[in-house]
Amino acid sequence: MYKLIDGKAHSARIRGEIKARVEQYKKARGSDIGLAVVLVGSDPASQVYVRNKIRACEECGIKSFANYLPETARQKDVEELVKSLAEDENIHGILVQLPLPAHLDEKAILDLIPVEKDVDGFCEENIGRLCMNRDCLVACTPNGVMQMLKAEGTEIKGKNAVVIGRSNIVGKPMAMLLLNADATVTVCHSKTANLKEICRNADILVAAIGRAKFVTADMVKDGAVVVDVGINRNSDGKLCGDVDFDAVRDKCSYITPVPGGVGPMTITMLLYNTVCAAERS
Ligand code: NDP
Repeated sequence: MYKLIDGKAHSARIRGEIKARVEQYKKARGSDIGLAVVLVGSDPASQVYVRNKIRACEECGIKSFANYLPETARQKDVEELVKSLAEDENIHGILVQLPLPAHLDEKAILDLIPVEKDVDGFCEENIGRLCMNRDCLVACTPNGVMQMLKAEGTEIKGKNAVVIGRSNIVGKPMAMLLLNADATVTVCHSKTANLKEICRNADILVAAIGRAKFVTADMVKDGAVVVDVGINRNSDGKLCGDVDFDAVRDKCSYITPVPGGVGPMTITMLLYNTVCAAERS
């Protein structure tokens, strides 16, 4: 019988801890913890994400500073905004909502976020520190996965972990975190040969692909821990992950659902990183 990893419950528990730390910070320093969010353009999905992040900040007592720029914003406008947020002592974390409109140079903009305010954990220095297993701000989605695995008491050390996906924001940092936790890690991608066989060897299988029902029952080892990062829509428009949940679940020891698994943890880890950044400031 599999155990469902309840991302909402883990998220609620961690948010409780975050609230307490925010209160403590305010008492000790007599000031707020601030997170600045930058949204350029009017992409509907990005607007929803930003709204959710701002609401989550409010719920935990973190002050949010929303900065909206039009789709037509010039590189210079965005860079100047990020530079001013970088210098602002009331801002402890800066988040630039991606994707940016195509005419903007994303890297040049992200490079302006100081490492200590990089609460998304995307900057080169934070990723480098993660690779070296040093203290850093870790990308929110993979960090959320690790927090859930650890809290569930799943064994990571010495296990075979397979991550499908090698993006800089999910797959790669996920692989690094598992490696740092002493798993033996294989990273798969669209050019991987024998993907099914590799997956069948996984004690821990993380799917971060972006394709509905990609992971089928014949790819999963009996007793595996399966983590589904994917967010897709099926043909009925319903939210679903990368794993064929109904077919796979009975083979698993643990599995995350979509929705209600990894998703709720991502914003929670953003709040967590913001509090860490403020406490270190
Ligand atoms: P990307 O598109 O950046 O990366 C997808 C990865 O999947 C790539 O490495 C790609 O390989 C690999 N891939 C694609 N097709 C195949 C295939 N047929 N076989 C093997 N590998 C394949 O996506 P992200 O990493 O940003 O996101 C992954 C998923 O997670 C998406 O559904 C996204 O919506 C979701 N997501 C969920 C979050 C949450 O909070 N739950 C947060 C962030 C993302 P290659 O590199 O060779 O192209």
